[in-house]
Amino acid sequence: MAPKVDFTKCDGCKAQDEPLCEQVCPGNLMTLGENSKAYCRETSDCWDCMSCTKVCPVGAIETRMPYQLGYHGAKLIPLMGTNTITWTCIDINGNVERFRFKTRID
Ligand code: SF4
Ligand code: SF4
Repeated sequence: MAPKVDFTKCDGCKAQDEPLCEQVCPGNLMTLGENSKAYCRETSDCWDCMSCTKVCPVGAIETRMPYQLGYHGAKLIPLMGTNTITWTCIDINGNVERFRFKTRID
């Protein structure tokens, strides 16, 4: 499932040359629209690597979980810490679980 961008949060990376989500996408799929908000231009090519989701500095991107992992509507939202990443998983009933892992970033 392609990432979903919350347009109320995305600030276009403050008009820097290349937004962070565009820089990290291995498929060159993320780009800015005419409204200066990011979107995935070819959703069927997205392979859910979640790089764009993790790098967004304002938490504007959420990942819809693929049906193999969760029902349609379930989502994962990351929060990067200094040495950790916390994943918030929200299922289709609104139940929330959080999982925190150490990252390999020093
Ligand atoms: S990284 Fe986040 S804030 Fe920057 S353009 Fe992408 S979605 Fe918007
Ligand atoms: S999840 Fe990965 S492949 Fe899909 S748009 Fe984001 S960075 Fe690109």
